[in-house]
Amino acid sequence: KVHVDKVNKSYGSNHVLRDISLDVDANEVVVMIGPSGSGKSTFLRMLNQLEVPNSGTIVVDGHNISDKKTDINKVRENIGMVFQNFNLFNNYTVLENITLAPVQLGKMTKQEAEKRGRELLETVGLADKADVSVNSLSGGQKQRIAIARALAMDPDVMLFDEPTSALDPEMVGDVLDVMKDLAKSGMTMIIVTHEMGFAKQVADRVVFFESGKIQESGTPEEIFNAPKNARLQEFLSKVM
Ligand code: ATP
Ligand code: MG
Repeated sequence: KVHVDKVNKSYGSNHVLRDISLDVDANEVVVMIGPSGSGKSTFLRMLNQLEVPNSGTIVVDGHNISDKKTDINKVRENIGMVFQNFNLFNNYTVLENITLAPVQLGKMTKQEAEKRGRELLETVGLADKADVSVNSLSGGQKQRIAIARALAMDPDVMLFDEPTSALDPEMVGDVLDVMKDLAKSGMTMIIVTHEMGFAKQVADRVVFFESGKIQESGTPEEIFNAPKNARLQEFLSKVM
């Protein structure tokens, strides 16, 4: 569960997030759309304190991360994040990438982590890649490994920042399929994407960011079939 209340963020005089409030329930899938520079990545990164807001409240699974007394590293263990550019350790094997964090943080023994890692590789369709170097994989494979790696920590929430934007078109479907399965399994997900077909199919709620504000939010039907906000209408006319 994620609770965001009246969050503001500025970089110098650039007021990037303006009084953003958003609640995401357990098992909910929220897709964030909006033009470049509207603050989508900044918003996601604030949820695990990769960016610190200037004001407002963020509560993730009952932990108030705006409170200095909160151990942010503990909160982060329950938040999986997948980036556009994978951020894998390229000189390690696939299984090493997946087992590193849970073992180092004392969440599992090496054996447990490897067993879980192989199960996760099965679910992302890459069981045969456990022992190869990440270097040898395609972008789509790397991204599915990045998802498996995040899941290895058994997170309560998964954040995705344009997970398919850096991929060749023929790789996109495989990654979206893994995300669809994850959504069906009940994972709480917040996803920034330009894949509107995916958003229509998978989102419980779509949120439109523009100029650092949530200009409109609603079900996929409301957002894509009956958008009210003029800027949303204009945005959709460009991307659909
Ligand atoms: P895109 O679709 O291009 O990824 P976005 O909606 O994710 O865009 P952000 O990356 O959140 O947008 O950026 C919002 C604004 O904040 C932009 O004006 C950007 O230049 C600015 N910004 C983001 N990160 C920083 C930073 N670390 N320092 C200074 N300005 C930043
Ligand atoms: Mg971004």
